Amino acid sequence: MFTRMLKLRLLNAVAPAYFFTATAATFILHFCFFVPTIFPNQGPSPGGCTTLHTVVFLYLMFNALGNYVMTIKYTSESANETAVPVCSPHCSDKVDAHYLLNGRHFCKLCRKIILKRDHHCFFTGNCIGNKNMRYFVMFCIYTSCTCLYSLVLGVAFLTVEFSMSFENPFTFLTLLPFSTGYFFMGTIAGLQLFVVLMLYVWLGIGLVCAGFCCQQVLLVARGQTWCQMQRGELVENHNPWRTNLKDVFGTRWILGLFLPVQTVETCTDDTDAHKED
Ligand SMILES: [Zn+2]
Repeated sequence: MFTRMLKLRLLNAVAPAYFFTATAATFILHFCFFVPTIFPNQGPSPGGCTTLHTVVFLYLMFNALGNYVMTIKYTSESANETAVPVCSPHCSDKVDAHYLLNGRHFCKLCRKIILKRDHHCFFTGNCIGNKNMRYFVMFCIYTSCTCLYSLVLGVAFLTVEFSMSFENPFTFLTLLPFSTGYFFMGTIAGLQLFVVLMLYVWLGIGLVCAGFCCQQVLLVARGQTWCQMQRGELVENHNPWRTNLKDVFGTRWILGLFLPVQTVETCTDDTDAHKED
C-alpha cells in the first residue's frame, strides 16, 4: 500500500511537469518552426494563412489552458469540513480515496474531503468532482483539439522541410523506430527526430483525451461518477440525461463551450451533495 501511494504521489508530481513541458514544446515548435516553414512570408507583413493558423492555435491553447486553470481554481472540496479523517497506512480501500458518507470522499493525494468525487486527475494534481467536472471536460476537448491540430501541422512541417512522405497508411508504425535508427546513424537531424517524437505525443494525448471526454460526458448524462463505477455501484438516477448534463454544465453551457468562463453559480455546496444522497 505504501509503495502504491508513493507511486501515485510521484505521478502527481511528474504528470503536471510533463503537461507543461509538452505545452512549452508545442508553443516553440509552432511559432519557431511550423508556421515560418509551412507558410513562408512573401512580403513584410504576415500572410492570411499565417494569421489564421496562429489565431486558431492560440484560441485552442487559450481554451485548453484556461479550463486547466478553472479546474484547479474551482475545486470540489468540501468547504464545511476541515477535519481530515485519519487514514491508516494499512487501509483496505483499494482506491486512492476513502469513501465517506453522502457521496463524499477523502482523497489521499489531495488530503481533502471531496464532494461527489469522480476521480483524481494527475495532470491537474486535483480531484475532479461535481464543481469542476465541466471545466475538466472542456479541458479534455480543447487539449485533444490542440494535439490533433499540432499533429497535422507537424506532418506538414516534416513533409515540407524534410520531404518525408506520409502517403503510406502504415507510416506511423515504422516512423519512430526508423527515425531513431537514422538519428543514431547520423542520417537525420535532432530536430527531425524531436518532431517525430512529438507526433506520437500529440497523437497519444489527443486520442486519450477525446476518449476520456466521451466517457466522462456519458457518465455525467447517466448521473454517475467514475468512483461509483470503480466501486461497482449502480446508482438509481431517475433524472433525464438533459437534467444531469445541465446540473454539471450549467445553464450557460453554450458560453462554456467557446470560452473558459464560469458557467454556473458557485452556490453548489455541501447541502446540495447531502440532498442528492
Ligand atoms: Zn485528489
